[in-house]
Amino acid sequence: MQTDVCGIMVYVGETGTLRGTLELLGEARILAAKLGDLRGGDDPGVGAVLCGCRVEEKARELSRFADRVYLCDSPLFSVYHPGRYATVLSSLARKYRPEIMLFPACRSGQELAATVAARLGTGLAAHAVGLDIDPRGRLVQLVATFGDGVLGEILCPVNRPQMATVPPGLFAPATPRAVPGGIVHEQAPDDECDGIVVTAVEEKNGAAGRLEDAPLVLAGGCGLRDEGNWRALEELGALLHAPVCCTRPVLDAGWQRDEERMIGISGAAVAPAVYLALGISGSTHHTVGMERSGYVIAVNNDPGAPLLGMADLAVVGDAAAVVREMLRILSGEKESRTGSDPPGP
Ligand SMILES: Cc1cc2nc3c(=O)[nH]c(=O)nc-3n(C[C@H](O)[C@H](O)[C@H](O)COP(=O)(O)OP(=O)(O)OC[C@H]3O[C@@H](n4cnc5c(N)ncnc54)[C@H](O)[C@@H]3O)c2cc1C
Repeated sequence: MQTDVCGIMVYVGETGTLRGTLELLGEARILAAKLGDLRGGDDPGVGAVLCGCRVEEKARELSRFADRVYLCDSPLFSVYHPGRYATVLSSLARKYRPEIMLFPACRSGQELAATVAARLGTGLAAHAVGLDIDPRGRLVQLVATFGDGVLGEILCPVNRPQMATVPPGLFAPATPRAVPGGIVHEQAPDDECDGIVVTAVEEKNGAAGRLEDAPLVLAGGCGLRDEGNWRALEELGALLHAPVCCTRPVLDAGWQRDEERMIGISGAAVAPAVYLALGISGSTHHTVGMERSGYVIAVNNDPGAPLLGMADLAVVGDAAAVVREMLRILSGEKESRTGSDPPGP
């Protein structure tokens, strides 16, 4: 790999070697090998961009999975700042001229990718669920289209870099290299803030634990019919200590107000041991966010609903009735447990 260019650049933020990062690096390596094959063995190389404060150790870890780590380590990066991060990424893109830039489709990744694409005057495919190289060496980005179950191929034929955001859970993680890649120390930019001042960063749902780590996820769709039934689902979630997630229309209707809880291509991806879906049709836009779940239970009154087809346990029936019956049984159990508890000291 030449030192003055980088074929495929992957943004890893300050996350180090989290699974999503490793998946992107793994896929980038496959794409670089395909480009190399097309060019008679001239592999363009994979670089990871790491920004943060005192993250040298993370950079070393990361170098086991990338040909080069571009490290921007400065107190300026002790909290995430959209303008500052975008400045680093745009200037690295101008300096190393990557053909492809990949971002995780997390909140910061989506925001940054769009800003960087606009600054570089190039195209961006959002939420690509598949990536490939065509015979002309162009990046083919598969994106779920408006028609259900249909994937569209997006090309960025002229401008460079070709950019995509990629949700987690789609690719196999990178395997460690025999010899770690190099670490290139990059200069932090001037304290450019675009008028935005970040005063603090608070982790949402911190106390309730991370959605991605929940062993059981309850998810409701339009088939729950009204907000009263949605509140019953939330009660059930509280009893089972399970996060309550939703489909896009439920978020739009305002039953669920936390957009972080929407599952799917434009929302979160989860892989719990059990995914209980209530009144969800199973559009591809939704299922890409839950298809790695261990055991899927789906309740729908239409036996032809696609999600029933992919469920391990398909229940044909009224979703709200199932929620209320579970509530009745579980709150009864709770009461009887409480009733039989020995009196306190
Ligand atoms: C670009 C784009 C991105 C999108 N991103 C996302 C995304 O990230 N996440 C997402 O979820 N969606 C997303 N969507 C929307 C997606 O295409 C679907 O419209 C949505 O997932 C459908 O939600 P739903 O299953 O709740 O509703 P519907 O498709 O209306 O399905 C309701 C289901 O409930 C069943 N039902 C009805 N009554 C009952 C009852 N009494 N008991 C049991 N079942 C019942 C019906 O049979 C039906 O299967 C996106 C769309 C676009 C165009």
